[in-house]
Amino acid sequence: MSFNIAIDGPAGAGKSTIAKELAKELGFIYVDTGAMYRAMALYFIKNKIDNKNEEEIARACKCVDITIRYENGEQQVFLNGENVNGSIRNEEVGNMASVTSGYSQVRTKLVELQQQLAKTENVVMDGRDIGTVVLPNAQIKIYLTASVETRAKRRYEELREKGQDCDLKQIEEDIEKRDYQDIHRENSPLKQAEDAVLIDSSHLSIEEVVGEIKKMIRISAKDERR
Ligand code: C5P
Repeated sequence: MSFNIAIDGPAGAGKSTIAKELAKELGFIYVDTGAMYRAMALYFIKNKIDNKNEEEIARACKCVDITIRYENGEQQVFLNGENVNGSIRNEEVGNMASVTSGYSQVRTKLVELQQQLAKTENVVMDGRDIGTVVLPNAQIKIYLTASVETRAKRRYEELREKGQDCDLKQIEEDIEKRDYQDIHRENSPLKQAEDAVLIDSSHLSIEEVVGEIKKMIRISAKDERR
């Protein structure tokens, strides 16, 4: 049986950084589910799909094929055969993903792909509904969060590092809007699974958070042996 670690939480909480590091240290595969929703969103943007029109979205979903491959341990997302990793990490795509991920047609397609991956591989998977919907039987579940200010600042620095022009106040507003949408949607809203452990990373380093999760894994393995 594969070993699954689920990390959920709001935008900018540090999920991908932590999940990537953890996967590297454990020799697991890192599955970034946000990237899949972003790839779908990119399709909707490119094809000028009205994100308020569910029928149009449902029709468009039938034309989208999302696949995942790993190159040098890095997840690559393919949208209808094209590697779109370089085009999905911007606020426009993130905001579109936050709206369109609320549609069940979008979710059904991607959840299936995520569950398939976790069935055969040891994974660290991050997203919004991993512990609650995608992998309810994951051995370890984390709900990683941080204050809005901390998250906005991290995203700001990340974008600046990539050379993108951005405004901190705007990012903070976008994050608040995205949180609201993710928490209040009907389909698979962002919430802490009952059996998930809450970690607030506002005042913790990456190493501290990774260390905390590794401690949980050790305890879980000990319990398993008993
Ligand atoms: O994590 P990331 O910011 O890349 O995710 C983009 C958007 O995709 C989120 O705002 C959320 O609406 C959606 N998402 C989701 N379920 C997941 C992962 C991401 O609804 N498992």
